[in-house]
Formats: sequence, C-alpha cells, structure tokens
Amino acid sequence: MLQIKKISKQYITGDLVQTALNKVNLNFRDNEFVAILGPSGSGKTTLLNIIGGLDHYDSGDLIINNISTQKYKDRDWDSYRNHTIGFVFQSYNLIPHQTILSNVELALTISGISKRERKDRAKEALEKVGLGTQLHKKPSQLSGGQMQRVAIARALVNNPDILLADEPTGALDTETSIQVMDLLKEVAKDRLVIMVTHNPELAEEYATRIVKLKDGNIVGDTKPFHVNPESTPKAVHKNMGKTSMKIKTSLSLSFNNLRAKKGRTFLTAFAGSIGIIGIALILSFSNGVNEYIENIQRDTMASYPITIEAQSIDLSSIMGEEMMGGRIKKEVSHDLDSVYSNSSSLEMVNRLTSSFTENNLTEFKKYLDDENNKIREQLGKNGVKYSYDVAFDVYAKNADDTIIDTNTNAFSLKPETSSTSGALGQFQDSMRSMVPAGGMGSSQTFGEMLPGTEGDLVSSVVKDSYDLLYGAWPQNYDEVVLVLDQNNEIPTTALYALGLIPTEQYDAIMKSMETGEEFEVETFHYSYDEICQQEFYLIPACDYYVKNEDGTFHSVKGDKLKLETLLKDAITLHVTGVIRPMEEAKNANITSAIGYTNALTDYIIDYANNSEVVAAQLANKEVNVLNGMEFAPEEDAARVADARNYIEKLGVSDKAKLWSELAAKMYANNPEQLQGIASLGEVQLAAMADEYFSSADDEVFLMLYDNYISVGSYDSNMSAFGFVSLDAPSSISIYADTFEAKEAIGDFITEYNSSVEEAYQITYTDFVAIMTSSITTIINVISYVLIAFVAVSLIVSSIMIGIITYISVLERTKEIGILRAIGASKHNISQVFNAETGIVGLLSGTLGVGISCLILIPCNALLRSLLGSAEVNATLPAISAVILIALSVILTLIGGFIPAKKAARKDLVSALRSE
Ligand code: ADP
Ligand code: MG
Repeated sequence: MLQIKKISKQYITGDLVQTALNKVNLNFRDNEFVAILGPSGSGKTTLLNIIGGLDHYDSGDLIINNISTQKYKDRDWDSYRNHTIGFVFQSYNLIPHQTILSNVELALTISGISKRERKDRAKEALEKVGLGTQLHKKPSQLSGGQMQRVAIARALVNNPDILLADEPTGALDTETSIQVMDLLKEVAKDRLVIMVTHNPELAEEYATRIVKLKDGNIVGDTKPFHVNPESTPKAVHKNMGKTSMKIKTSLSLSFNNLRAKKGRTFLTAFAGSIGIIGIALILSFSNGVNEYIENIQRDTMASYPITIEAQSIDLSSIMGEEMMGGRIKKEVSHDLDSVYSNSSSLEMVNRLTSSFTENNLTEFKKYLDDENNKIREQLGKNGVKYSYDVAFDVYAKNADDTIIDTNTNAFSLKPETSSTSGALGQFQDSMRSMVPAGGMGSSQTFGEMLPGTEGDLVSSVVKDSYDLLYGAWPQNYDEVVLVLDQNNEIPTTALYALGLIPTEQYDAIMKSMETGEEFEVETFHYSYDEICQQEFYLIPACDYYVKNEDGTFHSVKGDKLKLETLLKDAITLHVTGVIRPMEEAKNANITSAIGYTNALTDYIIDYANNSEVVAAQLANKEVNVLNGMEFAPEEDAARVADARNYIEKLGVSDKAKLWSELAAKMYANNPEQLQGIASLGEVQLAAMADEYFSSADDEVFLMLYDNYISVGSYDSNMSAFGFVSLDAPSSISIYADTFEAKEAIGDFITEYNSSVEEAYQITYTDFVAIMTSSITTIINVISYVLIAFVAVSLIVSSIMIGIITYISVLERTKEIGILRAIGASKHNISQVFNAETGIVGLLSGTLGVGISCLILIPCNALLRSLLGSAEVNATLPAISAVILIALSVILTLIGGFIPAKKAARKDLVSALRSE
C-alpha cells in the first residue's frame, strides 16, 4: 500500500514560487492501474517523480508498506528506486550506446546480481514485451513503440512493486500507443501501475481508476481508496538496504560503454595522449642528449686527466709577462728626477723559483692507494696512472761518426770553453741561476709524453694539442717523436745534441762565440725525412756498471773505449714522427726536443730492476756492491777491516793523493817536511803511504774510515743504477668519467691538502678545466632547458587531459540521470565514471607512448642525417614509459574526478531532462 500524506512541493526560481503540489493526499492499492489526468503544469510529473523517489517532497510523508520515507537518506532512496520502483518515461531514456539487452540488464547490474542471472532475467523481460528476437539491437535501430517496450522491460526486470509511467504514449502514434497500453494493462494485473497521461480516452479504456489534478490539487478520483487511520499501524522508519555495485561491474560497464563508442573513445584517448606524446618526446630527446653529453664527458674525461708532477713549473705565471732585455717590462711609476732601483731581474728569478713547486708524490700515492679512501669511488674507468723517472743516457752519431751525448748541456760541450771566465761563462752562470736545480725540462733533450689510456701510448691531451706533421705517433717502446715549436724550429744547440749538426760546423760557431768575433749563425735545415732517419742509442744507467773479478762492480761511465762496446748493445730509438704545437693549443707543454712514451720508461724500469748490478745490490742490502764495504757497520773491527781493504785496493795515483792529504794534516806544523812531500812524485808518495799504513794501528784506520772513505748509501746506489721504486712516482694522472666526479676529486685533493703539513701539500694541473671551462656551463644550461620543457609540457598535458575528461563527463549527464533513476547511487555513478576515465587514461598513456616511439624513428633518422653520426639517439627509457602511462591514468582520474562527482550530485530530474 502506497500512501501520500499531505505532500507539498514548491519550485523556487528566482523570485517566483511555483507550487507544484499542494498538500496532496492520495492512497493507492497494491494492485490497480491508476491514470493521472490533468492539464499541463498541473503537477502530474512532479507527483510521479516524488512517488518514484526521483524528486523529494518539501513536506508531508510518502509511506510505502507502512514505512515512512521522511528520514530517508540518499542511500535509501537509491535502493528504493532500484527495488521498489520501475520507471517508464515519455522519452524512453534508453542509453543509446548499449544494446537493448544491456539496457535492461543495467538495472540488475546495479542490484549486484550475477552476470548469468542478469542475462536470463533481462532476456525474459524482453521476451515478455515481445522483443525476444532483437536483443542485440541498439535503441536507435528500433521504432518508438519498441523503445518504449524496452523501457517497460527495463522497469519490470527488477520485479518492482510499483510501475510509474510518465506519458508513456505521448510520443507514439495511436496504433503503437495501444500496444504499449495493452502491455501496461498486462503488467498492472499483479502490481500497482501509475500512469500520467493527457489522453482521457486511453485512460478511460485501460485504467481502473482515474485521478485528476489541477494546480497541484486533486480535483477528482473515480475510485478513491480510504484508509482508516485507526486500523493501520503507525508508519515506521526502516532502511531499504542498499544497492551494491562491485568495482569489477563498474569497470566492465565502463569498458562496454567505451567499446560501444569506439570512435569517440579513441578520439578522447588520442586528445589526451597528445600531452603524453609531448612529454615522451621531450623525455626521449633529453635522454638522448643526456646520454650524448655523458658520452662526451666520459670521452673527454677519459683522455684528460688531472695530473700531479713531482716537480712542476707554473709556466703561465712567467709567460704572462712581457719581457724586455731579460727583465720584466713594467710601467714606470715614478718621476724621472733621481736614482731608482730596478728589481725586475730579481723578480724574474723569484718568479721562476716561486712558480716551481715540488710535490711529495710518495705521500700522495699512499693516500690514493688507501683502499678505504672515498676518492676511489670518483675515479673513472681509467683510474690512476703513475709515471716514473728513469735513469739513462742517449747518444747520437754525428754525420762524421762522432758520438754525442744528447743530454750534454750544449754550452759546456767542450771542457775548454766551459770556463767560468769570459762573457759566455757569465751568461751560462746567469742561466743556471735562473733555472732551479733539477729544473726546467727544457734543459733535457728527451722527455716522456703524457701516457694515453686503453693501450694508447700517447695521451689525447698531447694528440689534441700537437699537429702530426710527418710520420706517425709512436706505437712501440723504441719509437719517439721530434717536437718542433710553433715556427717549425728547434734550438741549434738541441740539433747539435741530437747529432744533426756536424761537429766541425758547431765548433766553428762555438769558437766565434768564445772569441767574441762577429758571426752569422747559419740556419740549419733538414727535411722531415732526414730527421726520421736519425737513430739514437739508449744506455740504461745500470749498464754502466761492470762486474769485477771479486764480485763488486765499477762504473765505466766516461770511459770512451767502453762506451763503444756499450753502444753496440744499446737500445736503438727511431724517430717515427714530427709534431708541432697547434695554434692556440692550451696543453702543448712538451719541453723536450724528443718525446718518448711511457712504454720506454716501463721497458727501462723493467730492464734496470732485472739488471745484474741491481740484483747484486738487492741480494745484499748491507754491503755496497761498488766497493764491497758495509754501508753501516756497527763494530769498529769491521770498519777497520773495510778501511784496510779499501786502502789495499787503491791505485797508485789515488793512494798518492790520499797520502798528500793526510800528510798535509799530519805535518801542518812542520813546513819543511811539507815541502819535502810536495816535491815527491806519485810513486814515491804511494810508497811512503804503504810504509805508513803497514805500521799504522786501528785508530788510524778508523779515522780514515770516518773522514776519507765514502761508503755511499743503499738508496744512492739504487738510484744510480736506475732502480725505480714504485712508491715514488714522478707524476700521477687521475682520470674521472664525469665532470662531477672530477670536481669531487678536486675537492678531495683540497681536503687532503688541508689535512697535511705544508710540505706534503700538492698542486695539480687540471687539463679538462683548461680545455673546457665553458662546456660545463653549456651542458648545465641545456639540461635545465630540457627539464623546463618537460615541466611545462607536463602541466599543459595535465590541463588538457583534465578538460577532455571534464567535457566527456558533462556530455553524459543524461546517462547519469538514467542510471540514477534506475537506482544507481551517487557513489556508483562516480565509480563508473572513474573507471571509465581510468580506462581512457590508460589508453591515452599507452597510445601516447606508442605514438612517441613511432615518431622517434623518423626523428632519429633525421638527427642522424643532420649530425652525420648516430651519437644522439633519442630513446624513451622503459621506466619513463611506465611512469608516463601511470601519470596519464592519474591525470585523467583527477581530471574526471571532479566532473564525475559533480555529475553524480546533479539533481536527478534535471539530469534526466538534459540532452
Ligand atoms: P505537468 O507534468 O503536469 O505538466 P509538472 O509537474 O511538470 O506539470 O509541473 C508542475 C509545476 O511545477 C509547473 O508549473 C512547472 O512549471 C513547475 N516545475 C516543474 N519542475 C520544475 C523545476 N524543476 N523548476 C521549477 N519549476 C518546475
Ligand atoms: Mg509532465
């Protein structure tokens, strides 16, 4: 039993208050066919909507089977609509993109009924209305009458107690109207049917009761139903239970909807994907560019190390000054009125000495080699490379077959010209004073070039700074290059040292210089080919030490005859190329005339460390292999024995020399005796010495040992033999792979410097910084620009996706109304729409990523042809692709969330009215 008690409803539009229903009282039997008649605007639809729970009354009560609806919440109304009410509209209100079967199923879907049962019941309902054969047609493929019958089937499928029909035949012709009325009459056999119509004839013919409305009041009732208030129990509140729709159902509902509207879905997804494509492309390009930059970094860093030399000169501090007459040219800052001092030459020397730094590489190597040192994490794949100084001499053969020591200071070639007197001598002295001990590499004819990496003998630092004029870079330990200056020149002295200028001609020049004669220095000139014909003969220091019969060794250095034999076994070096500094090259800092590779160094180290003399010294670290004496004997007896032994072995002239020295001291107070000794010859002196020593006691020998005999030291011996200790490199090259790593290494060195004493602090050369100081900034700018692009396109695409989803949701307001009318809750609606936007998001994300990948193919081809290399290759990383798809889903969900919420909240009646 349905009771309407004093229900009123007013519509307020602006100032206008429209009373649609005015305290209407009406009771319905459980089983009757009621027709409601009345003029337009009399409140019929309002009444029906209120009964159907589509609209809510302002006051009064709607009582169904003794349950008051006064306290109903949204949830209860949803359930009420779904279970108790079936609704048939004048305009059918079918969902156009679903088949009629699905349309009918929908009401069951919302009730949470299983798929099988849903299908069976929907089919049954459709068969009942005579449409059993058209199940899979879309509403648009049916006639008006058929559509209305589908609507009736949908209304009945839940087997509701009440069927409401609002002008169901209003849009139908007479014939189909009759069919629909017949159907309704049939339906009314076992339930309450309330039908609004303004066709009195149809009402008369089919309805069992006619209620007339006018201006919101009941003005007539052919079969009123009076309920005795006393006999009926008081209406109570009771929940109706709720409609339930599983997420799976909403997903499949949305999926079906999307599938039904393939074209539209695709377009929406495509529109949404454009933003994703934008981001994907920019990500791909920035990824490609980043990879390219990283490769460049790695390449650059791989070949340009940070180097630390044991001894180094900051040449730039000297080179920066303009020189004039051996002095630094300066602005005069005083008046020209009295006498002033000029200290520029002092400054020059000071500049030279202060720009010269010594680094304790042994300590630093310990620091670097420490396993736990964090600096090791920053090292690149080339790691740390150590270079060592080796002891050797190189000789060249002149055109006239004279042998020349290439390392001889050119000015002191001839002992007779190297006297400290004369202009040349003075000049030499001043030169020496300017060059610190151990000094500038320029005084050496042979120098090692910075080693390369990955088996390359010559570093890219060198190769990128020098033009190879002729021949090839060294490939082997015995190959060297000739280093020219910017003007293809080599100092005349160096050319002589290399054996290229014949001795005769060079002597003539020297002679002219010595005598101060005016002369014109000839310009010597050699073809590259000629230069490359020249051979050099390298003798490692250890080879100078020849074994004596007693097992000790002696040096044959300076012995011309022995040199001949040594040269026969010498390592022959070949000049394979000629190089010249490039214009503006910043790292062209080879100072020697000949550059050799560290393969030669390694070879010589190996050779020396395995030589007989080194092996002998290593075998007995206590005894000097050069004289058989103990380095540091503790007992006097041993020292006395050593001293006796030493004197015994002395040659005549050495013995005579020692004796005259001793005698000078012994007879210091006796000038006559001294004079006598001075007049003696070597042989006589030696004889005197022998006589003296034969009778001398241990005291004398101890004195001799302490004052006249130099035993030497193990270390000095080893270094003279050319033995190289791996603890003491002459230079360290540290390679990083990235700029950041290099910066970090720089920081570590700074930290190291602040942690050690001043003597251990080191200075280093950063080749990359010199080379590419601006590249880092450029790379950073590029990275920031790319990030900015990505950020902007992200924002743009979010907005785009949001708008598209919003529009698509708004477009479906009517559908929302229908769903609500058949019992879907607001939550169900949001759920369905969120599921749908989620699917669209997934689709646009996938589409976007897919399209981007396709677009990248021609883009990369274009890049390749533009750049002429495949170095920049734009690719979308898999992880980014996944993130982008997820992002697209999230963005569409956000974009759709608000409109879906809004749509769900929409007033049901107006949602239904919207087109
Ligand atoms: P009927 O169905 O009998 O033609 P309605 O029930 O649709 O009449 O309308 C009753 C009255 O209430 C009419 O005057 C109509 O203008 C008014 N009305 C109905 N719905 C609304 C609404 N949503 N907003 C404002 N006024 C409305
Ligand atoms: Mg109406």
